[in-house]
Amino acid sequence: MRRILITGGSGFIGSHLCRRFLDDGDEVICMDNLLTGRLQNIEDLFGRDFFTFLKQDVSEFIHVPGSLDAILHFASPASPSDFERFPIQILKVGALGTHKALGLAREKGATFLLASTSECYGDPEVNPQPETYWGNVNPIGIRGVYDEAKRFAEAMTMAYHRAHSVSTRIVRIFNTYGPAMRPDDGRAIPTFFAQALRGEDLTVYGDGSQTRSVNYVSDLVEGVCRLLDSDYALPVNIGNTQEMTVRALAERILELTGSSSGIVCRDLPPDDPKVRRPDISLAGRVLGWKPQVSPEEGLRTTLAYFEQEVSRAQG
Ligand code: UDP
Repeated sequence: MRRILITGGSGFIGSHLCRRFLDDGDEVICMDNLLTGRLQNIEDLFGRDFFTFLKQDVSEFIHVPGSLDAILHFASPASPSDFERFPIQILKVGALGTHKALGLAREKGATFLLASTSECYGDPEVNPQPETYWGNVNPIGIRGVYDEAKRFAEAMTMAYHRAHSVSTRIVRIFNTYGPAMRPDDGRAIPTFFAQALRGEDLTVYGDGSQTRSVNYVSDLVEGVCRLLDSDYALPVNIGNTQEMTVRALAERILELTGSSSGIVCRDLPPDDPKVRRPDISLAGRVLGWKPQVSPEEGLRTTLAYFEQEVSRAQG
């Protein structure tokens, strides 16, 4: 049995990881300061053996008694709407939080896995994006707080790997969706589902011609597990390659929900990437990974979740 610390464990992706490792027979310590994470995401885990929750901010000094085999650093607000609400917390958790988590990994002799992001590529000039692309990031724009925090986190991770021989992994996560996202999270998929289910018009930013490639959370979790079990220290993209425009995504969600809502256009936020699609050939070669869940299937499961969330909020 491995003993695994997951920072941001009550967030969207973190909560899925906690459940997966528990199901695989590992002991899980979930750490979260609940800034954007929610206890609701892990309420089914509290009664389980080998699960501990620590309410702690990973950007402060962290202490975890006992041994650790792995640390998965998933703590960070990650929605573009969080970039304006929590800019300093995002920079702190990417920089100070990553430093603390790496220090803990070094002390415990644990493998460290960093949740990085396709945002490292910024508004990319190449499409699809391979891991070898260095990116096109505006460091002082509103997205810069997240992009640069994660780029710094990658640099810090590689420094600990090279200078202290810590066993490290870096996953670059592309747009991921599924149950446990907050309906008010601000990202496109939760926003469109919540709006469609409440009978409000869907707010498409710009003309909606910008593209994204959306990956269902179970596929991401499988990729993360395989990466952790590998010995590959350089960044690996994990995402779906079915690229679509944001307008097409909104239309698909309208169709799926059977909503009579319309689509309204709003200003495109600054530095919003025009295209995004991962090159996943490295994940295929190194991890034998490729996505299994089609957008149709994933969006259908996600709809059932948001129906519950929206009716819970409406009481
Ligand atoms: N978007 C939109 N309407 C919304 C929220 C987002 O049109 O209510 C757009 C956003 O401008 C971006 C895309 O959808 O082009 C994906 O945004 P998201 O916030 O999900 O994540 P991003 O990929 O930008 O980090």
